[in-house]
Amino acid sequence: MIAPDLDTAKGHLVDMIQEAAVVVPFTGAGISTECGIPDFRSPGGLWTKNRPIPFDEFMTSQEARNESWRRRFAMADQFGDAKPGRGHRALASLYRAGKVPVVVTQNIDNLHQASGFAAEHVIELHGNTTYSLCLDCGARYELSWVRRRMDAANGCAPDCPACGGFIKTATISFGQAMPDTAMRRAQDATLNCDLFLAIGSSLQVWPAAGFPLMAKRNGARLTIINRESTEFDDMADLVVRQDIGTVLEPFIVH
Ligand code: NAD
Ligand code: ZN
Repeated sequence: MIAPDLDTAKGHLVDMIQEAAVVVPFTGAGISTECGIPDFRSPGGLWTKNRPIPFDEFMTSQEARNESWRRRFAMADQFGDAKPGRGHRALASLYRAGKVPVVVTQNIDNLHQASGFAAEHVIELHGNTTYSLCLDCGARYELSWVRRRMDAANGCAPDCPACGGFIKTATISFGQAMPDTAMRRAQDATLNCDLFLAIGSSLQVWPAAGFPLMAKRNGARLTIINRESTEFDDMADLVVRQDIGTVLEPFIVH
């Protein structure tokens, strides 16, 4: 059913969460827009302005690597100090209360960790943009280090001092393989919940969008909270087309 108004939506959500033993939230960019980080598809979203750099281009072109890092630092200047929003804090409260074992996220902004989830309980399907890794040896490099090296080298992105590999934010680009472990853990979590909450995702990016479907087929209830419709609304037990922070705020425990 589509909740006709905010109060009905909140009421149903409270009941469904109370009735569930294990709740697994699945989050997308919409949970972070109130933190000042634009989402992907809304008009004016930062990602609509630049064509994404596919993985094979990053691997074959120094200029693509330079451009990818220039964009990353432009983003850092715009919203590098974003703080968790009401949605993040509500989920962290449910996590502390033992209702939510893990959160599965398409986001790369680290805000679930910042809101109080232990890092091992955040399953990141598209990685994390707040640090970087050598694509060959896996060594970790902080963004500030990359920035200093680039500034000192006329804007040329640095390679790994240990092995010469390319250094990239720890995110999954278009054309890059999905992370096996995260995908498997997300599947396990999905198959072991009795309430799946899809929050702030247009549910258009596959294979990530397969999880709500998987949860539902496995017998879990499905709630979708998103201000736009999604192609899974018809199969959801509850559809809430309202602002995420407003809907989830009642679950925040200080
Ligand atoms: P998306 O942009 O495709 O969808 C976001 C959805 O959230 C939209 O349908 C939008 O209507 C809705 N929304 C936005 N603000 C809302 C609010 N306050 N209340 C209710 N609904 C709201 O995002 P996606 O499906 O997550 O896919 C984009 C991909 O790009 C992700 O997989 C991610 O890797 C990346 N991305 C990440 C971030 C981030 O980490 N914060 C931001 C943008 C994009
Ligand atoms: Zn290396």
